[in-house]
Amino acid sequence: MICPNCEHGVTIEDYEDIEPFQCSSCNEWLVLDVDEGTYFGATHTTLRIFDIDYD
Ligand SMILES: [Zn+2]
Repeated sequence: MICPNCEHGVTIEDYEDIEPFQCSSCNEWLVLDVDEGTYFGATHTTLRIFDIDYD
């Protein structure tokens, strides 16, 4: 995975874990965004910046 903020490579140990975490390079809060509703039947996971203000 690539940090969407600084493009630093981020190692994801558990793709089931959707708790926000901080990028080790830029300290931006990131979260895995899992979309299980794809037509391809496979889970599509992206890394996005976690909006701290979003409840
Ligand atoms: Zn980063």
